[in-house]
Amino acid sequence: MGVSTFQAAPSSPKPSTSLPSTTIRRNLKPNDLPFSSSKAFSSRVRAHGPLRIRAIDAAQPFDYESRVAQQFHDAQRLKIAIVGFGNFGQFLAQTLVRQGHTVLAHSRSDYTDAARKLGVTFFHNPHDLCEEHPEVILLCSSIISTQRVLLTLPLQSLKRSTLFVDVLSVKEFPKNLLLHALPSDFDILCTHPMFGPQSAPRAWTGLPFVFEKVRIGDDDRRIERCEKFLNIFAREGCRMVEMSCADHDMFAAGSQFITHTVGRVLEMLMLESSPINTKGYESLLNLVENTAGDSFDLYYGLFMFNKNSLEMLERLDFAFEDLRKQLMGRLHGVVREQLFDNAGIGKGQSLPDEYVYKLLQKAQNGSAPVLSLPSKEHRWSFVFSKTCYNLYACNALQSQSMVIFKMIMIRMT
Ligand code: NAP
Repeated sequence: MGVSTFQAAPSSPKPSTSLPSTTIRRNLKPNDLPFSSSKAFSSRVRAHGPLRIRAIDAAQPFDYESRVAQQFHDAQRLKIAIVGFGNFGQFLAQTLVRQGHTVLAHSRSDYTDAARKLGVTFFHNPHDLCEEHPEVILLCSSIISTQRVLLTLPLQSLKRSTLFVDVLSVKEFPKNLLLHALPSDFDILCTHPMFGPQSAPRAWTGLPFVFEKVRIGDDDRRIERCEKFLNIFAREGCRMVEMSCADHDMFAAGSQFITHTVGRVLEMLMLESSPINTKGYESLLNLVENTAGDSFDLYYGLFMFNKNSLEMLERLDFAFEDLRKQLMGRLHGVVREQLFDNAGIGKGQSLPDEYVYKLLQKAQNGSAPVLSLPSKEHRWSFVFSKTCYNLYACNALQSQSMVIFKMIMIRMT
């Protein structure tokens, strides 16, 4: 706490310490000094030279500045109850405790030991927690469990003006839930700290903190309490972004959901670090690390409780398919050229992907960079299979035909 920011109110002017020592010496008389007899004084002056006062305000009867600082500090403190003391709840608790707030916690599992280590008081029973009358209830439960968690809280035990804050990674859902489930006396602040223990284990400087003041009573005390809560993140250097929950969800589907999805897809590939990692590859590995630590419940919540996520997933699917088609299209061109030119078969027909894929594998292995000419009977069966394939591509053949076509291809090879 920057004590130096506090100034004592200008009262009577303080005596200046900058008087020349000669002036002080001239004006000082032995009897002016407390606790020293005039005799002792004059003998000390004789022995060590004249006595000089260097700091006249060093021994004030009380430390005005630190008392004001303490009052300010106490006024900034909040009693915050974290509900859902898992990964993210504990992550937030560290900073809340460090800033001097009184932190209580409750969760489905028993986190007594973890809480004690963090300086948090843990309550197994939500009734005990609410009877402590926290000023703020901070909901840190998983997205999919929040409704159930909220309904188990004995709201009647709380003060009527309690501030409810959620940190869920989706925002429209908790906004509607809190508006419907809480009595109108309670204040509601929907937030999303857009970082976590994986992405920001040490500092939050410059990281976005999104919030919407959904319902804050208009008396000064409530407004001030909400500001105090927001100030927790502002003090840590977060970039404070006031935004509607709907806008948050729209942006988050395009950024956060995609990030988590790609991270999880890459995780399934079990990528490994190599001695020749490029910067791009390093960032992919980091992405996997960042997303792998989050629970699947969290990811599932991003999908289930953000109406924009399904569209993003479909777009991702289309984009991947499109890219694949571009690659296969080029490959078709090359293979067709070699195959049909050599075999004397007409152009303008496409080849089944599986066939092209096998040829590509051979070429990539270096075993058959140039395609060999098919035998006479193979040519006929190949023409037949191509016809089937083209019919299939024209939607003339449905899924059953595809099975038949695949069987023919398998027999051929
Ligand atoms: P999470 O898996 O989303 O949530 C875990 C928390 O939910 C734990 O406290 C857990 O309680 C509780 N929970 C799960 N199922 C429950 C149930 N059936 N009944 C009661 N409680 C249940 O992981 P998280 O990372 O800790 O996230 C917590 C919240 O913070 C989520 O809403 C998430 O969207 C949000 N958030 C997370 C991050 C992040 O980086 N992790 C960042 C921003 C916001 P127990 O542990 O007691 O079982």
